[in-house]
Order: sequence, then C-alpha cells, then structure tokens
Amino acid sequence: MSSVSWRPRPRVVDVAVIGCGIVGLSTAFQLQRRGLSCLLIDPRGPAGDASFGNAGAVAVGNLMPASTPGMAWPALRGLRNPLAPFKLDAGAWPHYADWLWRFLRAGRQERLAPIVDATHALNRAARAAWLDLAGAIGALELISATGYLHVYSEAVTFARAAGAREHMRRNGVAFDVLDAAQLRDLEPGLAAIARHGVLQRDSLFVKDPGEFCRRLFNWLCARGADTLIASARTIEREGEGYRVRTSGGDAHADQVVVAAGAWSGELLRPFGWRLPVAAGRGYHAMYPRQEGVVRRPTLWAERYMVVSPMRSGVRVTGFKEMTAPGRPVRPALIQGLAPQARLLFPSLSGEPVSDWAGLRPCTPDSLPILDRVDDERLFIATGHGHLGLTQGPVSGELMARLMVGEAASIPLAPYRLARFGRYARG
Ligand SMILES: Cc1cc2nc3c(=O)[nH]c(=O)nc-3n(C[C@H](O)[C@H](O)[C@H](O)COP(=O)(O)OP(=O)(O)OC[C@H]3O[C@@H](n4cnc5c(N)ncnc54)[C@H](O)[C@@H]3O)c2cc1C
Repeated sequence: MSSVSWRPRPRVVDVAVIGCGIVGLSTAFQLQRRGLSCLLIDPRGPAGDASFGNAGAVAVGNLMPASTPGMAWPALRGLRNPLAPFKLDAGAWPHYADWLWRFLRAGRQERLAPIVDATHALNRAARAAWLDLAGAIGALELISATGYLHVYSEAVTFARAAGAREHMRRNGVAFDVLDAAQLRDLEPGLAAIARHGVLQRDSLFVKDPGEFCRRLFNWLCARGADTLIASARTIEREGEGYRVRTSGGDAHADQVVVAAGAWSGELLRPFGWRLPVAAGRGYHAMYPRQEGVVRRPTLWAERYMVVSPMRSGVRVTGFKEMTAPGRPVRPALIQGLAPQARLLFPSLSGEPVSDWAGLRPCTPDSLPILDRVDDERLFIATGHGHLGLTQGPVSGELMARLMVGEAASIPLAPYRLARFGRYARG
C-alpha cells in the first residue's frame, strides 16, 4: 500500500489579524462590522500580553510622550535606584541601542508640540470609541467613568508638570487641579503625602482589561471570526493575497494586519521594513480584593506607579524596562515597588498574591504606527507604548477604514512608518 501524504488545506479569509491584544481585536471588530471575515491568530489567545496586565486607565489627558526635553539625565541617574521607573536590561542592549538614540532625539523641544497634538487626536476620540465598543459587545459593566487621578508628593515635581497641564489646557482636555484637602474629598483613602493632584475628568477605567479582551474575542467568534491559537511565523505573497504560515497550520488571506505588539517587527522584515518598536517591559502586582481603599486608577507621579481597583483585587503597576522579547523577567522589581503603595493608600492590607510582567510596544516618539506597507495589502498597527489601552479602539477603527478604503476620521500622517525615514528601511 502506498502512503499518501496528507496536507491540511489552509484556511481562507478576507483578513488575517495577527495578535489578539486590544489593538488586533479592536481592528477585527471594526472589520467585521464592515462585513469582512477575520481569522484571529495568537499563540496565547486573547490578551496574552500587555493588554492583560495594564493599569486599566483610558487616559485621555496623558498627552506627553515618554521622551521629553530634559528627561534623559534624571532617567539615567535613576538607573541605580531600584524604585526609579526607567530600567535598562543590559543583556538586551543590541536590541534597543539604536532605538534609545532615536528616543532621546524625539525628546527635542521642537518635536514636542506635534507629538502632543497627534497623541491628543487619538485620545480625544478614545472615550467615545470605548463606550461604543463596550456597548456593542455588552461589556459596559467592565467600564466605569471614574476619571484618572495623578497625585504628587513633592511640590517640585508638581511644578515641573506644569507644561503637561498647559498642553491639556491648550487641547481642551477636561481636568481639575486639586489641593491636599480636595484630594482627600475625592479619594478618602489617600495618605497625607499626596499633596497635589490632577483629575482627568473624562478618562475611563477598564476594571478588568484581560476579561474585556476575552469578551471581545468571544463576541467576534460568535459572529463568525475564525481563530488559530498559534504563532504566525512568516507572511508570503500568494496569488492576490498572502499565505500566513503559523505553528498551527497555514492560512490564506486577502489582507493581513500585523498587531502583534512588541513582536511585530520580525514579521515585516521580509517586506523590507525594520520596525522601530522596542519592548518596554512593565510589571504589576495584585493585592487581594478589598473595598474602600482606592476608587479610581491613581498614578503616583514620583514613583511612576499606578494603583487601580481592579475587579479581582488592587493592582499596582510600574516600571519601564527596555528589553527584548524572550528576555528573563525581574519580579524582584515589582516585589520591591508594590509595598510603596501602602505609603499612598495606608489602608491597603495583605500581601501581593501574584505578579506579572508584559511588554509595551514602544516607538521612539511614543506615537503608534498605523499604516499600510508600501502598496501591499499588508497593514501594521503597533507601537502604542504606554497608551495602547486608551487608543486601541480608536486605532482599530482607523485601521479598518484604511483597509477598506474609507476616508480616515483622523489624519494618519503622524502615525506613518515613513516618519522614521531610512532607518525603518531594514
Ligand atoms: C504595566 C503596564 C501598565 C499599562 N497601563 C496602561 C494604561 O493604564 N492605559 C493605557 O492606555 N495603556 C497602558 N499600558 C499599555 C497597553 O497595555 C499596551 O500599549 C497595549 O496593551 C498594547 O496592545 P497591543 O494589542 O498592541 O499589544 P499586546 O497586548 O501586547 O498584544 C500583542 C499580542 O500579539 C501576540 N503575538 C506575539 N507574537 C505573535 C505571533 N508571532 N503570532 C501571533 N500573535 C503574536 C501576543 O501573544 C499578544 O497577545 C500599560 C502597559 C503595561 C505593561
């Protein structure tokens, strides 16, 4: 008897969406709304990385990029302080050395206003996009309109943030500046070290970002999305479309969108692009669930630490460690930072029950990349850095419009890959 080799037929869809974080899922949602069939590809299912463990703030007033004039030396000086937010993973240096140089250059004074304006263009649309998405999938109970609070324990840091407030004012962001007494009225659990505060009134809070992504994923599947719990390995042209080879079999799609967060770069190299996206690892620790400690996501500016009242417990997030995918995590960092949350909220009780680390996909200028690769039907949606939760649903709509040829609701020029010039031509 002769043996016949059997090869499974590739799945055929309109769009292969690579990456099921908030950006990929929001894009799939908008594509399905427009009648396109989607294949959702991710080895870890929905919210496998940053979209799971973030602080939950739809931070519409966070307009400042990570690199700003004068931030470089304080950040570098802080490298030896275990509680300072900025960290460099020395073993991953070749992965981000070039990026770091561009990151520092993006912090020049003349770059600031255009970056702030392009951030605001996305953030301004974020609240409505979130409420639309959550309403459509029946997940409004995972969102609350608490606003986002920034607190300052030192007058000098609060004074230094005057520029950020001026940018909010100039762009019409709704916010209140609070003194110590007003802070205590708003957040009765705050300690006296919180001396100044800024409440972004229109910011939302996603009480369980991982659960939100799971619901969105299930909602898409219930309406016809196909799924591949596998890792995309290569994208190749095939006929009029593309063959996506994955660890779980192949797929054929007319269009492909790469929304694989910090992992997006490798998939685009064969098309001649080098994505200027570096992995900025953040950490969280979870305290057991407890009532009355904190009412809304609260950033302690001096520690760059956010304390958030998640559904399953109080989450403490922090750090930006420049690293590379696959590098070892350093849980000691968050284990050292988490107890500091008690200095801000003294009634926080118990010990952390878990910790987590995930990779923010960071561009040098803190703006995402929302673009089409040359004249291919291959698209990129990544690089959202610290604001991917905030901007994910807006980016999803912009990507879907770009892919189906609808007019953009926000001019896309600031988010084009070409802004990185020859550097991005890998
Ligand atoms: C500690 C921390 C706190 C944060 N807090 C906030 C906040 O309060 N507000 C805010 O707006 N933002 C916040 N962020 C940023 C935000 O979480 C991210 O910007 C956002 O989640 C990025 O979404 P994404 O979909 O691009 O990437 P991800 O969520 O990382 O998703 C990428 C997906 O791609 C998958 N993938 C990787 N490789 C492949 C492959 N080869 N094939 C298929 N799939 C692949 C991964 O498994 C992953 O599921 C925070 C981030 C961190 C780390």
